[in-house]
Amino acid sequence: MKSTDRSCIVIGGGVSGLCAAYWLTHENFDVTVLEREDIPGGAMKTVRKDGYLIDTGPNSSLETTPLFDELFNSLGIIDRRVYANESSNKRYILRNGKLHPIPMSPVAFLKTKLWSTKGKLRLLKEPFIGRANGEESIAQFVERRLGREFLDYAINPFVAGVYAGNPEELSVRSAFPKLYRLEEVYGGLIKGTIKGRKERKQRAEQSKQSAKMFSFIDGMGTFTNALGNALGDRLILSAKVISIKKKKQAFTVTAETPNGKKEYSAKRVILSIPAHHAAHLLTSIDSSISDTLSKIYYPPVTMVFFGYKTDAVSHPLDGFGYLIPAKEQRKILGTIWSSTIFPNRTQEGYAAFTTFVGGSRQPEVTENDESTLREIVHNEIASILGVSEEPEFYYIKEWKHAIPQYKFGYADTIKKIEQFERSHPGVYLCSNYRGGISVGDCVMSARRTVDKILQEI
Ligand SMILES: Cc1cc2nc3c(=O)[nH]c(=O)nc-3n(C[C@H](O)[C@H](O)[C@H](O)COP(=O)(O)OP(=O)(O)OC[C@H]3O[C@@H](n4cnc5c(N)ncnc54)[C@H](O)[C@@H]3O)c2cc1C
Repeated sequence: MKSTDRSCIVIGGGVSGLCAAYWLTHENFDVTVLEREDIPGGAMKTVRKDGYLIDTGPNSSLETTPLFDELFNSLGIIDRRVYANESSNKRYILRNGKLHPIPMSPVAFLKTKLWSTKGKLRLLKEPFIGRANGEESIAQFVERRLGREFLDYAINPFVAGVYAGNPEELSVRSAFPKLYRLEEVYGGLIKGTIKGRKERKQRAEQSKQSAKMFSFIDGMGTFTNALGNALGDRLILSAKVISIKKKKQAFTVTAETPNGKKEYSAKRVILSIPAHHAAHLLTSIDSSISDTLSKIYYPPVTMVFFGYKTDAVSHPLDGFGYLIPAKEQRKILGTIWSSTIFPNRTQEGYAAFTTFVGGSRQPEVTENDESTLREIVHNEIASILGVSEEPEFYYIKEWKHAIPQYKFGYADTIKKIEQFERSHPGVYLCSNYRGGISVGDCVMSARRTVDKILQEI
């Protein structure tokens, strides 16, 4: 679609929509962002309460793209960025009720009791294993290449930590494309890791393993708030979009606002909202994409934040936190030691813990009432870390639809989304159900959407 009309409506003021809108304003677009909540950020928000800093969604991000530096410089927040404390490179996995650090050196690998000798020897076969014949789940891929024990005690907890997902359900190709490429392009994970370094260097990208972890002194919300401030009155809050209609060559978007229904028109519309919301809005434009989007599963996740007196915790809290394999049969997915990783999370003498429960593994746990959840999480933390007192502070945030699961067959979903965009020029789908779920992935997806629009002008 060639058009010099530079009007665009962005639906959704999470990090994806805000970044797309911000870049478009820099290209002299006339942008309106419609966000249904009364603060911007979507999943990325920070709360300050009783001396604690609580990130209710992402607690940190990996510096996987140079776009971050570009944005933070341009927004004037680069000086507020903080990198994770070095000790947080240490990550633990629970096995038989005990925390084991993930080994970071060959000697530590040989010594660790996280995996048996048999499990470790199995890894040596990896370079000699051929490519898959068809699509695989991450569980099938890992079991085939690295063995069952590595799946149970490394990848299973990792998938719970990133996607709040089940490795048996997620497509390796769609959910972990870089891992998949190592086999596809180089024939194996070890070979690919070595050769892939060169490629990333050329693209100035960082692998997720080597990228630095960051947040801000005032939490991740600093980023989305700064984007919101920069957009000024182009960001309209408390505006829930209820319909999109195509009228001649433009789109009319209707939103419910505190002052009644309002209509907005533009040549282009970017939908940066979760798939089930986009499905609803697109029914009148294309029922088939609506059907595809409505099938994307977002499991519920509840974030339980606790503040304990540091003296009450016997573990040294010398790391990022721990993840829990499904085999351990616990009621939590893992805990981040928030006050070890970044400064300014608690008052002196207190430690902050961010625990996630639910996900695809145990969605039913999120259905407990608040006091039961507090009890469940405290009991788990107390038994894992040796905590002698009740928490001094708690904060709970429930995400009913937390993270999209890139399930088996997801490549087809992506193809349908691309086909939809080709058939409906002027409509763009840009959110975390496409191109990756991490904050860095969302930023890169927003940039791709903007570049696509610029090519059409
Ligand atoms: C609990 C949790 C922990 C996470 N931890 C990490 C982490 O540590 N590191 C990391 O990199 N990533 C993490 N993620 C993932 C990452 O935060 C998200 O993928 C990302 O923030 C999604 O951004 P988005 O803009 O695509 O979507 P969202 O943040 O979901 O934004 C969508 C916006 O659209 C709005 N909206 C919906 N419907 C309408 C409508 N009809 N009209 C107007 N507005 C509407 C919503 O209110 C929302 O603000 C986490 C996610 C969650 C939920």
